[in-house]
Formats: sequence, C-alpha cells, structure tokens
Amino acid sequence: MKRLVCLLLAMLSLPLTAAQKQPNILFIFSDDHALQAIGAYGSKLNQTPNIDRIAREGMLFRNSFCANSICGPSRANILTGKHSHVNGFRRNGDRFDGSQWTFPKELQKAGYQTAVIGKWHLETDPTGFNYWEILPGQGSYYNPDLIQMDGKRRRYTGYVTDITTDLAVEWLKSGRDPAKPFVLMAQHKAPHRDWSPHPRHFGRYKLGTIPEPETLFDDYAGRSKLLQEQEMTIANDFFWGHDMKFQGENQFPEHFRGGLSMGEYARMNAEQRATWDAYYGPENQKFIADMKAGKLAKDDVTRWKYQRYMHDYLGSVQAVDDSVGRLLDYLDESGLAENTVVIYSSDQGFYLGEHGWYDKRWMFEESLKMPFLIRWPGKIKAGTESRALIQNIDYAPTFLEMAGLPAPPEIQGRSILPVLRGEGRAPAGWRDAIYYSYYENDAVHEVAQHDGVRTERYKAFFFPRTREWQLFDLEKDPQEMKSLHADPAHQPILAGLQQRHRDLKKFYDVNFAVIPATRGDEDWWKQRDRAKREQAREGGFELVFIGDSITQGWEGAGKEIWAERYAPRKALNLGFSGDRTEHVIWRLNYNQMGPNRPKAAVVMIGTNNTGHSMQDPEEVAAGVKRILELLAEKSPQTKVLLLGVFPRGQSPFDPGRLNNLGINQRIRRFADGDRVHYLDLSGSFLEADGTLSKEIMPDYLHLSPAGYQRWADAIEPSLKQLGL
Ligand code: CA
Repeated sequence: MKRLVCLLLAMLSLPLTAAQKQPNILFIFSDDHALQAIGAYGSKLNQTPNIDRIAREGMLFRNSFCANSICGPSRANILTGKHSHVNGFRRNGDRFDGSQWTFPKELQKAGYQTAVIGKWHLETDPTGFNYWEILPGQGSYYNPDLIQMDGKRRRYTGYVTDITTDLAVEWLKSGRDPAKPFVLMAQHKAPHRDWSPHPRHFGRYKLGTIPEPETLFDDYAGRSKLLQEQEMTIANDFFWGHDMKFQGENQFPEHFRGGLSMGEYARMNAEQRATWDAYYGPENQKFIADMKAGKLAKDDVTRWKYQRYMHDYLGSVQAVDDSVGRLLDYLDESGLAENTVVIYSSDQGFYLGEHGWYDKRWMFEESLKMPFLIRWPGKIKAGTESRALIQNIDYAPTFLEMAGLPAPPEIQGRSILPVLRGEGRAPAGWRDAIYYSYYENDAVHEVAQHDGVRTERYKAFFFPRTREWQLFDLEKDPQEMKSLHADPAHQPILAGLQQRHRDLKKFYDVNFAVIPATRGDEDWWKQRDRAKREQAREGGFELVFIGDSITQGWEGAGKEIWAERYAPRKALNLGFSGDRTEHVIWRLNYNQMGPNRPKAAVVMIGTNNTGHSMQDPEEVAAGVKRILELLAEKSPQTKVLLLGVFPRGQSPFDPGRLNNLGINQRIRRFADGDRVHYLDLSGSFLEADGTLSKEIMPDYLHLSPAGYQRWADAIEPSLKQLGL
C-alpha cells in the first residue's frame, strides 16, 4: 500500500515537475529579413531597438545559416530538422507532407500547447498545432486574409504585421491552456516583397539618405557566368507598379518592367489609399518629372530605385521590430518572460543592393545567413555572441532538448544547447562546415542550381549545369568578388573543401542521382520538353525510349532505322541530350509520358552521371531504380527493357567505361523476370579485343548509323517478346 501511494504521488508530481522545468518557446520569425538590416548585427541602414534587446539580454549568432535560401524550403527545414531533399520540400511550389515528423508534433505529444500564426507558405495545412491561423501563400500587407482552422478565410482590416502580433498576443492571453508550456510561432510576412510599409513608417528612412552598398554596380567579373544570367537586379528587374509603387502604365519601359501592378494598392480602402498617395504621390511625380527633363542617367535611375526599395523594405522591417517589442512587453507584463525562450530569426537573408541585387537564393553570404538571436533568462548569459556554425536544421533538435526530449536519430540537425551553455563557444566536435543546396532553377529570377559547403573561413560551391566550382576566402574577400577556384595557390584548399563536400553529401544522404532535377533553365531543353509533352498528349504510343543523347540520337544518326523499325509501331523518343538519372526522374515525375500506357519502355541512362562527375555506381543505380519505380507508378502494365549503360571510351580500361560497368553490375539485378527485363548490348558494340571502333562510336560515346542498326537488331527479339 505504501508503495502504491508512493507510485501515485510520483505519477501525480511528474507532470508538475515537467511543467516547471520545460520552458515556453516564443519563436518570432520573419520573411527575408537580412542581417544587414538589424542593428545588433551592425546595420548601417536602420535601427531595430527591440530585436537588439534580444541580443542584449541573450545571445547573437554570427554564423547562422539556412540550408536552402528560399521561403518554403527554409520553413520545412525548421519544422523537420532535415535538409530539403529529405523532407521533400525543395522549392517553392512543392507541397509539404504534413504527415511526416515535425518538432511541433513531438512537443505537442509531450504536453506542449502549440500554435502558428501568420505566414506558413507550405501549401498544405499545418499539422501538430493546437491552434493555427495562417496567411494564404505569400499573404498580403494590407487588409490581409487569414485561413482559419475550419478552412474559411477571414479578412482583417489593417496591417499584417500588427494583426499577426495582435493574434499572437491574444493567443498567449486567452487561447491556450495556461497550465501547460507552449510553443508559439509568430511568423511575419514582412519584409517580403512587395515591401509595403505601414504609414507610421513612411519616410522613416528617407529617399536619398540611405547608404549604398559598395557592390551596387557589380559587373560579376571573376565569377561564374551564371551570375550574369540571373534576373534579380535592381537595375533591370524591378516592376514599375509591384516593386516601385507607381500607379498606371509603365512610363519608362527601358528602366522598369511592366505588367505587374501594385496588388497591395488594390486591397486598400479609400482612407488607406489616401494616406498612401499623400506620401508616394509627390515622390513619384518628382521622379517622373526629373526623368522627363532628362536629369537622370541609367545609374541615377538604379540609385533612385535602390532608395525606393530600401525605404519600403526598411519600413516593413520597422513594423516587425515594433512587433518584437510588443511581444517582449507582453511577456514582461504577464510574468511569462522568466520561463520563456525567445528567438528572433528569418527564413533566410536577402540582398539589399549587394551585387546589384534584391532577393535571395545564392549561396553568397547575404542570403545564406539567417539572423538568429535568442534570449533565455538564467540559462543564456546576457550580451553574448557565438561564432559557432549553426543552421536552420538545428532548431528542431534544439527545441526538443529545451523540453527535455530526445531527438529521433533521423534528425539531421544538432541541438545548439551545448553552444548556449558554453557562452557561445562551440564544444569540441562541433561541425566544421555546413552543407547548402539550392534547387529552384527554372523559376522566377533564373538562379542556377548549386550546392556547396561553408566553413568558418572558406566557401566552395558547385554548379552542376556548367560543372564549375566557385571558391571564396571570406576573410580576405568578404564581399565574394573573386572566385579562387582556378588559382593554383588555392588548389589544396579547394581539394579539401571538395572532400568535405563529398563527405557531407554522404553524411546527409544527398544522392543527386535520385533527386528530381529540371533543366528548364536551358532554353533548348525547355522547348524539347514542351514539344515532347505535346506529342505525348496525342496518346496511343506503344513504345517509349527513355534516356539521354544516345537515345535522342534516334532523331539524328539513327533516324532512318527509327523510321523503318519504330515509327510504324507508334514509338515516342524521350531522349534528352546531357540528361542524367535525376532529369529523367523529374520528367517522369511531371508526367512527360502523358496519357500513354505503352506496351514497352526501353530505358538506357546513366552515362552522364559517369561523364559529368564520375558519380558512384551505387548512387547511379539508385537513380535507375527510382526510374523503374516511377514507371511502375505511372503505367504499371508497361514492360521495361532496361539496357545496360553502353560502353564508352576506346579502351577497356577507360575510367568512364569501368564506372558504367559498375552501374551495370548493379542494375542487372533489377530484372524481375516479369515487368523488368535486362539486356546488356556491349557485345554488339565492342570489338573482339574489348575496344570500341570509330565506325560504331565515332566519339567513343555516341553511336553511328551502323551503331543504331546494331542497337535495333539486338533488342528486336526482346521487343517481340514484350508484345510489339
Ligand atoms: Ca523568405
């Protein structure tokens, strides 16, 4: 009996003890807020006294990074503690799989009250929250709609940053169970494009007074040519209405993009419009008059645009700072401050004119960095700073450890609590480098896909499209104006960083051969993709060839044989020159085969995974496997004739040839005697001594007409067997 009483007492006291120990977490999060616009980070542009207060009373992180510098993906990194390729949200437009593990779910299970208010931007409804109220998509600054938990939209009159704050305070006051600890994610739209300040901040940072960055007129010399391809410059890529806040028709099309009006203005009521016009009208009229008088040269216009952009951006930031102040005040008034961890962060950084840019995406410092300021009374020494390398995948395990919960082993981030306890010093064995990967090529702003590593001093990243490395010494070249990848003196450093890059990819399970990738940022590829989709929509194709340039070559060197053998059988050529497995996966994922359910698909892919980066055969085989899975999903009745990757290189000891052999010895195992059939055609192409002849493969990679003849002859019996 005594033991039973003890047990009961223990059970009763457990939740109480836990509740006392477990801190509340107030996560204040904004969108696109760059470090350069935060006082505590040394802003030369603006003042943010309330955000700075968190640094003064807590810790500021100098080396805080995102894993993928774009809105939705960063949010998914935070919720899951995992990189984008693992949580599945690689680019805006993806849909977050809310059935997966997230930290709010875990904390909710452990008795926390959880809420998210404001910007969400993950396409699917929030899961793991006791309360949520979110902006649809990007949301609006003026009179925003918010999606309610029942799916209905409610329109609020007023300014989004203030409304988000009101709702957050309201939830803290009366929306939660005060007996339980809480996690509140108060997530602002601001200062995201189309930067629209509240009238109380009009003119706070006046046109013509805002310091310009040194690199406003960057010419991108000394770095990859891909930097010139982007469409995110202040000089050329601002819209007349949407970005620069002019009304009516674009009057200077040589300086401004037209066609996208100011959506916020359309949402305003008469009173709001009058206030808006009273401020913007005279400035706009003066600019137009100066232009008409010929007073402004091209660079003067760029400078004016920068000033207008910064006025609006910094004004939008100012309301976020007000919000932080109100939330901190409420914690003080309510007595919650003592046991509440407060964090201020933003989904990634932003270019405030550096390199002539606005927006984000690139692995350069301004957009790679995330602000991270944290206050935890009694646990974090006030006014401390850390240079430890932290990343947004660390937030989830950090929150779990704060709540006394273990992190599941599949979480990729690390709890930063040891850094907090160590007054900002990284403990022994802390990470020496972060891994970064950006996937949203073929989208607005035309930034090429790239991934890389950053250490305390160096940064190296890789563009798969041009197979170029970039290397920067951040100590000597903090503005990243010259890549040292080709500098002989820096070869050992580049090699070391490349090794870390390879290893970190292994560590985080990054296998590009299986991660769907588009090449839609290359015009010919995009056009071919469009043409093939149109062709596929006709339907009725019985046979599909899927692969790279060697398959595409049926339209070139193999044309006549194709016309004779395959055209009569309604065959579709889905060969794309230069494609690797990941591109085929993208094409199948996005249904390039259309409504067709062919009798057979001939698949031959992987030699570019070898040729471009000598990718590990195990990884390439996984890519081929994924292609087979996708074919099974899209068209289960289609039989697959999987061909071994053709031999390449003249010699039997050509490294590329050997890599292809490694792929083939793995993929032949995918044959199942029913749906998937495997055939190795190397015997049809190789000479008796194992060499390749120029007659069959003139460049030792692509087939001649005679080569295509041999290919056709070799697969004919199998095609017949498969019902063609
Ligand atoms: Ca963002």
